[in-house]
Amino acid sequence: MKQLGGVAPQAPSPLPYPNADAPSEDLIARCVHCGFCLPTCPTYAVLGVETDSPRGRIRLMKTVWEGRVGADSAGFDKHISQCVDCRACETACPSGVEYGKLVEAARSQILMARPRSAVERFVRAVAFDWLIPHRRTLAGFAMLSSLAKRLHVAKLLRAMRLRSASRLAELLDLVPDQTSAEGPQGVVAAIGERRARVAMFSGCVMGSAFGSTNAATARVLARNGVEVIVVGEQTCCGALHTHAGERERGRALARRNVVAFEKAEADAIIVNAAGCGAAMKEYGWLLKDDPAWADRAMRFAGRVRDATEYLGDLGLSVMPGAIHARATYDDPCHLLHGQRVSVQPRALLAAITGLELVPLVEADMCCGSAGTYNVTQPDLARALLDRKVANVLRTDAEIVVTANPGCLMQIQAGLRRAGSKARVIHLFDLLDEAYRAA
Ligand code: SF4
Ligand code: SF4
Repeated sequence: MKQLGGVAPQAPSPLPYPNADAPSEDLIARCVHCGFCLPTCPTYAVLGVETDSPRGRIRLMKTVWEGRVGADSAGFDKHISQCVDCRACETACPSGVEYGKLVEAARSQILMARPRSAVERFVRAVAFDWLIPHRRTLAGFAMLSSLAKRLHVAKLLRAMRLRSASRLAELLDLVPDQTSAEGPQGVVAAIGERRARVAMFSGCVMGSAFGSTNAATARVLARNGVEVIVVGEQTCCGALHTHAGERERGRALARRNVVAFEKAEADAIIVNAAGCGAAMKEYGWLLKDDPAWADRAMRFAGRVRDATEYLGDLGLSVMPGAIHARATYDDPCHLLHGQRVSVQPRALLAAITGLELVPLVEADMCCGSAGTYNVTQPDLARALLDRKVANVLRTDAEIVVTANPGCLMQIQAGLRRAGSKARVIHLFDLLDEAYRAA
């Protein structure tokens, strides 16, 4: 090191976490380094290095607290960004480490600590402020993407033989062939005796591209005596924002949903997208340091139920008809690990006469969709998808059932690429078909 007047200049101290949203030291301290989580971690399975395991990432978060690594270091960013945030490690952990809360907090710190290019700031603003929270804009975007897919734009992009064009083509593969923004509105009355009344969360992606699945969900609930109300002022849940470290943007959306659903006189808030439901069940944590909102957010979170969880617990009052097919179920990470719901979806599928449900190996492992992961980490996302597709093909299933739009699009794209014609369908769409068959 160059001497200045005989005194060696000191190396700058590593940058500490920039604000109070840092990963909780109490949660970090729960980790006893046992390694039980390692075999369940998809990135550890693919990359095989400790720093891309839950234990390694928790250790990294601790080293930033200890001042040995900077919150702005490239290595910290790399390993935290490569995490899928699937939370499989939480399910496996005997010490109750709430890893999802840690990784999202770490991402928010990296976002503040590391300078972003003007282009990245612009892309984030477009995606997180202008596109995702605005249903009509997102529906228009979904419709155009679907049209581009049907016009085989992906083929043209691939013919360009450019890496960026190929990545765009892969993203286009994810778009559903048909999108629909026509979901239920107002009140969907219960059929027969009313057993319950729920407020339905429409979602940004669900509401703008899978409106027909929202309609199917409301129909199935109504057939089982559940009145469904759709609150007008609701907005995106903010899951994509908080997963990407955008906590303030996520909080702003959470507050709007708390206000919107407080007015709804309903037994529960029903969500049919696993990622949204997991995020909404954590509004209490997200807003815990805001005295004006903490209690309200906690009450809101306590009312949230995944649609499969709610109907499974309530029980079917009318049995669905028959679908004679071989099917398999893939657990969305944010339903299985984020909400610990796995029994109810399988029980609902078992109620469909003629449906042969075959187990899927590694149904509990991420398919690589994970919010924006297939955009930000395309190579890892692809490796996870290939693994999922290989497992699905082994089942020989004609129908692949899941309960989250991201998983649905990801698995469908992977199966088409592999030449499989298996249908990939949301559980409530399948139930709705079975009721129609009846
Ligand atoms: S959230 Fe998933 S990818 Fe991230 S460390 Fe945990 S198991 Fe691994
Ligand atoms: S299972 Fe839990 S306690 Fe054990 S290493 Fe993983 S996070 Fe730490």
